[in-house]
Amino acid sequence: MRKPLPMHLARRCLARTRRGSPCQGPVVRGRKRCRMHGGADGSGAPHGPRNGNYRTGFWTKEAIAERRFARELLREARATLNQVDEILALLPPPGLRSEGDPGGYPGPLQRR
Ligand SMILES: [Zn+2]
Repeated sequence: MRKPLPMHLARRCLARTRRGSPCQGPVVRGRKRCRMHGGADGSGAPHGPRNGNYRTGFWTKEAIAERRFARELLREARATLNQVDEILALLPPPGLRSEGDPGGYPGPLQRR
């Protein structure tokens, strides 16, 4: 049997047809539907304030990405602080310092 052509391996449009079955047409590059079902250039609602569902901008892709980035940054900062705690925990406790040791690590900081 012949190998299927790359064309036939393209993702398929799942739009429901008037028959009730999925369209199965090849999807437009970068889209989830075929050229007949919303994949065509210029089809779809405008982004941003021009979109009818736009309210405050809280749910724009940019705002969502910004919040995701902030959470990731916070996650990394916490992980770094935990690593610092682990390293500092290896140092001798204040009572066991030798003469002249400035010491000063009071134990893990209280963080949320
Ligand atoms: Zn389709």
